[in-house]
Amino acid sequence: MAKKQHTWDDDVAELLRVGPDFDLAAMDRGATPGWSAGKAEAASLMAAHGEELSDLQERLFADAKTGGTRSVLLLLQGLDTSGKGGVVRHVIGMVDPQGVALANFGVPTEEEKRHHHLWRVRRQLPPPGRIGVFDRSHYEQVLVVKVDGLEPADLNETRYDELVAFDREIVEGGTTLIKVALMVSHAEQGERLKERLERPDKWWKYNPGDIDVREQWDAYQAAYAEMFARTSIDEAPWYAIPADRKWYARLAITELLRRALRDLDLGWPAADFDPEVELARLAATARD
Ligand code: ATP
Repeated sequence: MAKKQHTWDDDVAELLRVGPDFDLAAMDRGATPGWSAGKAEAASLMAAHGEELSDLQERLFADAKTGGTRSVLLLLQGLDTSGKGGVVRHVIGMVDPQGVALANFGVPTEEEKRHHHLWRVRRQLPPPGRIGVFDRSHYEQVLVVKVDGLEPADLNETRYDELVAFDREIVEGGTTLIKVALMVSHAEQGERLKERLERPDKWWKYNPGDIDVREQWDAYQAAYAEMFARTSIDEAPWYAIPADRKWYARLAITELLRRALRDLDLGWPAADFDPEVELARLAATARD
């Protein structure tokens, strides 16, 4: 008999959702909320859900082809080595790349700096039918920009409300917004950076600036805590994902995405032709 598929013990979205009582300092980043089994069982569920995700994504794409306006945006935040790239590869990699709109937000270019900070973000919002993925996002405005003091503090203070208003606008436009923060522990980040430095095949991922950011660990944690407290809204809550176990983070994000797509409740579009008539026409093309 086939082994029974292990599944979530609990409502993982509820467990990871940042609510008013969320306490970042108390978060165990090696924990696996809602998941009592191990890595092998996670891989098995991931594969099963991957198939469903792929099917749901195709429905979303098909819906837009027939005039639907819905899209989904997965926003990923996290410090270096927190696993953002792995989520893109292993979670988003399970669906048809034609249905994905991926955007990466690094240090603004000279042109971007001449515009309002949301200018470059608006241009990358997913069109109907797509799953958009932001690898970093407009939230850097209250993370690196705040920690490094890249704009005056009083201006930066206004950003929280601005970001929340922008998120609401995205949601009102028909996009389901899933805001995910991958929270790695200080010790685990140290291990991952060490591995990058010890392995020539990982040097390309390393940037000496990663240590500068690590030196500001406490300031970043404070900035994340503030961001969570002020920008987790009902229409677009934050999900704080313990990220020391990469397999858990990927499984949890797969589940958030799967649910978001399921909640759209999309069927397959009706044909705008008569399948019987077309079958008869096809039959008439037969050659002996
Ligand atoms: P990652 O670390 O996300 O995998 P990466 O190391 O390849 O990416 P990029 O994506 O090119 O680098 O850039 C990421 C860097 O850009 C981060 O250090 C981030 O803090 C910085 N950054 C993002 N947005 C801003 C911003 N608005 N102002 C200043 N720096 C920013």
